[in-house]
Amino acid sequence: SSTSLLGPADIRQLAGRLDVRPTKQLGQNFVVDANTVRRIARLAGVGEGDLVTEIGPGLGSLTLALLETGAHVVAVEIDPKLAAELPATIATRAPEAAERFSVVLSDALLVQAQQLEVGGRTPTAVVANLPYNVAVPVLLTLLERVSTLTSGLVMVQAEVADRLAARPGDKTYGVPSVKAAWYADVRRAGAVPRQVFWPVPNVESGLVQFTARPHPDTSATREEVFACVDAAFAQRRKTLRAALAGWAGSADAAQAALDQAGIDPKIRGERLTVQEFSALAAARPKG
Ligand code: SAM
Repeated sequence: SSTSLLGPADIRQLAGRLDVRPTKQLGQNFVVDANTVRRIARLAGVGEGDLVTEIGPGLGSLTLALLETGAHVVAVEIDPKLAAELPATIATRAPEAAERFSVVLSDALLVQAQQLEVGGRTPTAVVANLPYNVAVPVLLTLLERVSTLTSGLVMVQAEVADRLAARPGDKTYGVPSVKAAWYADVRRAGAVPRQVFWPVPNVESGLVQFTARPHPDTSATREEVFACVDAAFAQRRKTLRAALAGWAGSADAAQAALDQAGIDPKIRGERLTVQEFSALAAARPKG
């Protein structure tokens, strides 16, 4: 292929020409290593026929690797300077892929599903090196808004990767683990060293893989299930009976809901699966 990926010298030169000063606030750490972005594209399993949503394309490191697979890419970038430069970068370094690429200037938290479509086709995958401070909300927002996604591969802070992929009973199991599990099967997919970024961040990174699956079968809405999850983990050292008293109206009402859902009231929220949270939300007394 005639795609030419970005290395350390290219990134420095591009950043210099555009006068880009990476900000922490926008999580701007650019990948300067071709092997890393190729690995992400390969693990994502995308190729011809896929419409990939990329969040935070930055200078285009991962974008070029995604285009190299033959996929279509719609990238969402919040930084106007970076968004404006991307088409030229693609046209120069992967000319034959230019027609498979477009960029949306937007905060990913505000983007609408329609903006990610191309000629009526809906996105099949999300692949991103996410801005670290908003990684979890961005991910959950996309999973919620873009119901056609079948898979995802994202790079996040290693600690966040652990939390997203944690199983009930794991030390890092919490709100992000349960909410992600509402949409998908989530797994760790490897580590990424700090040295592949410019500037080099303070933390290690990790890859997380998503495979969409049907929501748990429940009469509760997504909002009701998530409210129950938030309540259970807000006081994670209490038993569920105590932690859910406010959520249910009283400790007795919490007890009744737990009984109805078949859950031991003496255990803690950190042991419940998303299916159990869903059953519990459905059993909450109404009104
Ligand atoms: N994908 C590029 C790479 O791998 O080199 C850049 C990744 S960098 C970790 C995160 C990118 O997300 C930056 O380009 C930043 O400007 C962008 N960004 C930050 N917050 C965003 C938001 N809320 N919505 C969309 N993009 C955002």
